[in-house]
Amino acid sequence: MYYRWQRMSSLKPRTVLMMGTVYVMLCFVAVLLLLPSDAEEKENRSSKIQALQVEAWQGSSKRGGRPRNIFFSSEGREDDLVQPARVESHSSLGRKTFNTSRYVPVQNKSFIPSNPTTFENSFRQTELSDIFIGVKTTEIYHDTRLPVLFETWLDGADVRKQTYFFTDADSPKYSKETDGHFINTHCAARHTRQGLCCKMGHIFSTYLQSGKRWWCNVDDDNYLNIGNLLKLLRSYRHDKDYYLGRSSTSSEITVYDVGDKRNLGKKKVNEPRPPRRQTSFWFATGGAGVCISRSLAVKMSTYAGMNEFPHICNRINLPDDVSIAFIIVDILGIPLTKIGDMHSHLAVLRNLHENQVKNAVTLSYRMHSEKAVNSVMLKSAAFNTTVDPTRFKSIHCLLHPEAGICPGA
Ligand code: UDP
Ligand code: MN
Repeated sequence: MYYRWQRMSSLKPRTVLMMGTVYVMLCFVAVLLLLPSDAEEKENRSSKIQALQVEAWQGSSKRGGRPRNIFFSSEGREDDLVQPARVESHSSLGRKTFNTSRYVPVQNKSFIPSNPTTFENSFRQTELSDIFIGVKTTEIYHDTRLPVLFETWLDGADVRKQTYFFTDADSPKYSKETDGHFINTHCAARHTRQGLCCKMGHIFSTYLQSGKRWWCNVDDDNYLNIGNLLKLLRSYRHDKDYYLGRSSTSSEITVYDVGDKRNLGKKKVNEPRPPRRQTSFWFATGGAGVCISRSLAVKMSTYAGMNEFPHICNRINLPDDVSIAFIIVDILGIPLTKIGDMHSHLAVLRNLHENQVKNAVTLSYRMHSEKAVNSVMLKSAAFNTTVDPTRFKSIHCLLHPEAGICPGA
């Protein structure tokens, strides 16, 4: 340093001035090069926002006995998930009872579910177009149960657009009627655990790919009041974990989890069976309809997709609605939010007052032969029970007297 200063001091002042100017210019150019370009700046800003989004999104998963460090790829779609490494996990009781999978983010891909969690999208009001409505049906009910749905709550193009039927046979007629929303799952057409769980796995996977804020699932003997459904869903956040439905039992259901049989290997003769784990929880009965928020559904994707869900049903040996609750309440630690305005035919429907019928989100009926044995009873019904055995037409006219099917409309 000292040597350089000595050499400088022997130069002429003009030369020193010129060298100084050149030096300052070089510094200026260097500073310009180091500043981030417009595009880079935008990218930095967006990755900061994404980091905040991830934080907000993951924040809600820190409660309860839910698995941690589960990451999802963009849209939270199953097919984007990287194949997991098998890791030992835990149940909500803290015992090592089964293996589960840990998912890692896909390289060079944003793993933020983009549709429901972008800031500008999250805070607007939920609309009908944000809801995925799944209807579970089967071939023998195509012509007996579906027509009244199309005449009543499914009479508008806007509702049909959101609704997908899941069945076990092809039907060109209903494919046309639903604009292709009539999906043959090729599951067994039987009211068995296997048949129902296979179908529910398909419904879940299709919902997940839709990217919608809410997944609402109903049976083909449900009347869905779309206006009341919207009101209900607008009072809950789709980006928090919600499991909405009706409990039809007077206490929690107790189930025995035998673990994932795929992990057991071949049983040797006289080898004792691994211990069963007992657990209890409230579940939403499928016959009253169930709604699940996007945030929760994304977390369920490890267990509820069409490849995994039948194994969950096998673990507890119970049908689809209880197995959905097993994933949500037992594995993920999210409780059922009980909705009194959702009704199944497991309750006595004739006891409902007109106001309860008007406020209902879902209603149902149960038929025995040609006669409805459990259905809503209205004081001044638009149709008699011969024309309207399910009472859905009369309910629809009570709610929408202007609808095409209603007398005097
Ligand atoms: N279901 C089905 N496959 C069958 C039988 C029934 O997917 O083999 C569907 C049916 O379409 C309905 C739901 O399962 O949406 C419940 O069936 P159902 O109302 O006959 O019986 P519940 O369980 O209500 O007594
Ligand atoms: Mn039923």
